[in-house]
Amino acid sequence: MARRKITFEGQMKLPFEEWEVLDTRPTKPVRRNVYAAAEIPVPEKKEPLPEDRLLYYFSIGSGSSGNSCYVGTRKGGILIDAGVKADIIESTLASNGIDMKKVVGVLLTHDHSDHVRYVYTLLRNHRHIRLYCTNRVLTGILRRHSISKRIKDYHSPIFKEIPFKLADLEITAFEVPHDGVDNMGFSITFDDRNFVLATDLGAVKERARHYMSRANYLVIEANYDLRMLLNGSYPEYLKARIQTEAGHMDNVATAAFLKEIVNPDLKNIFLCHLSKDNNTPQKALKAVRDALEEKGLKVGNAEDTLEDRKSDVQLMALPRFESSRLFVFRPLGKSLSQKEGEE
Ligand SMILES: [Zn+2]
Ligand SMILES: [Zn+2]
Repeated sequence: MARRKITFEGQMKLPFEEWEVLDTRPTKPVRRNVYAAAEIPVPEKKEPLPEDRLLYYFSIGSGSSGNSCYVGTRKGGILIDAGVKADIIESTLASNGIDMKKVVGVLLTHDHSDHVRYVYTLLRNHRHIRLYCTNRVLTGILRRHSISKRIKDYHSPIFKEIPFKLADLEITAFEVPHDGVDNMGFSITFDDRNFVLATDLGAVKERARHYMSRANYLVIEANYDLRMLLNGSYPEYLKARIQTEAGHMDNVATAAFLKEIVNPDLKNIFLCHLSKDNNTPQKALKAVRDALEEKGLKVGNAEDTLEDRKSDVQLMALPRFESSRLFVFRPLGKSLSQKEGEE
């Protein structure tokens, strides 16, 4: 059968195979602007759908008996800390309609057992989840706890002050003083908003203040009521340790800090890691509420009531043993007032 010939005007006829380029050297890809060359208008960036701009958060446990929470979007999300049993984390996500497949990573704030106890079980149950923590936190976990060395297989190292991206979330870890091996809070930016979490910290230092004062949604520790701690049954060395800068924040310190940084863009305050023995939710809430009201703010209870909607800021204490309800944070609907101009 005759071969097919390709014919071009003015050129000789060549069999098809000879017409092919014979030079097999790798060629560098040509960088060119295809839109300019073809005179195609550059497609405009599509506005995200309203549901793609929602940010989800719930706590799965908060306090010395176990800490964990979820932060995510429609695309996926992360867990911060895994001090709560893996099956409780799994069932809490399921009851909020979130498939474990949507969890891309688990972040750790530090190496204390109420934050890391179940992390390996969780990783082994869901092998697609990566562990994000600093190398020092990982070393601390392996030294302090009887956790399999295989946890290293899941580890992606992170570095304080160096942002990284998981799902839709841009995450920056920042230094906090505490007596773990390496301690940090997380600032998470999504869409036009910042979610910031700082648990287990004895004081708020400059870098933590930088991130926390830019939060729209802030999870901050209110660990103890000083009088309860001093009159309580803890041994003296432990009472002293808790009060240092490498210990925990008390209600008064947290209230004073919040009073300093509160601004119209701060929408939700979640008080976390309340001590079971040295604090009550009532005491922690009262201290913070009083401080904010002294500034003339109307403080809501984060229950979405009509009264809450008229409030300047929502305040709640996270439950110690149970999960919180799911919070759905919507776009603020305005540019973050003047923030662009700062720093
Ligand atoms: Zn803790
Ligand atoms: Zn701790």
